[in-house]
Amino acid sequence: GIFRQYNTKAPSETQVIPLFSLKGKTAIVSGSGAGIGLAVVQGFAEAGANVAIWYHGNKKALDRAAEIEQKYGVKCRAYQTDVTDYDNVKEVIYEIAREFNGRLDIFVANAGIPWTQGRMIDGELSHYHKVVATDLDSVFYCAKVAGEIWRHQYETGLSMTGETLQNYRYGSFIATSSMSGHIANIPQLQSAYNAAKAGVRHLCQSLAVEWVKFARANSISPGYIATEISNFIPPETKAIWRGKIPMGREGEAHELKGAYLYLASDASSYTTGTDIVVDGGYTAV
Ligand code: NDP
Repeated sequence: GIFRQYNTKAPSETQVIPLFSLKGKTAIVSGSGAGIGLAVVQGFAEAGANVAIWYHGNKKALDRAAEIEQKYGVKCRAYQTDVTDYDNVKEVIYEIAREFNGRLDIFVANAGIPWTQGRMIDGELSHYHKVVATDLDSVFYCAKVAGEIWRHQYETGLSMTGETLQNYRYGSFIATSSMSGHIANIPQLQSAYNAAKAGVRHLCQSLAVEWVKFARANSISPGYIATEISNFIPPETKAIWRGKIPMGREGEAHELKGAYLYLASDASSYTTGTDIVVDGGYTAV
């Protein structure tokens, strides 16, 4: 049949804290020159991973990488990448897999842009295409290449540079969806973004089954997090949202580190095909 079961293995370690370690692992995080992505990179570096930052226009990412190397004693480099360009994504992932001990363990597809044109009826179709290309197509591109590497690592037991992989278990793919992928989130008037984010969540759920032999796939759905992505939103609209958050405040990017670390690490060895909502209770009401 089409659906296959595989005999995956539980980690031999049964104490919980060591399972959260990313020591010796390689992670790539897209959209990580600032905001949520940068917090994720800091969390991974603190847990011992070597991390590749991906940025597009924000050249400060280069300074952030140098600071992280210094602070956490891991390898951290910044790469300029356009996630809407499949050839570019492929080229940079392979470059990193070669430069970082030949291996890839974790990929976080986090880059994204908001819908900024109000009601969809009044918006430009070209903007719709840009939102879907950046927020959904890009996740498919990153997953396609990371999945190819993880299949290779699983089938051969070798890194991309031909060395035997030490302590390799499975790949972990995490995409940043949004609470807007769960609810209509009307005050923002951004159905195109919402549809793209729902697509991201379901893509991960589907990949989890397709990839079960060699990698896990999950998504994270943040609620309102104080970052630059919402700079364009008028203060009155922000006040409406804030009034709907049971915890009474926006989240800080660093409050997402724990959820990403859980899914990236062997602490989540039996977690695949799921989504973690981190929204101060917004969607619980
Ligand atoms: P930021 O605007 O700080 O992060 C978005 C990142 O995406 C930027 O670093 C940007 O890179 C990158 N990016 C945009 N377009 C491209 C592209 N074509 N190629 C490569 N990189 C690109 O905001 P956040 O940290 O908030 O956003 C991170 C993710 O979290 C997004 O997917 C967003 O949709 C999601 N999210 C955010 C929420 C929030 O309230 N903040 C809520 C729910 C989800 P650069 O700056 O270098 O151009």
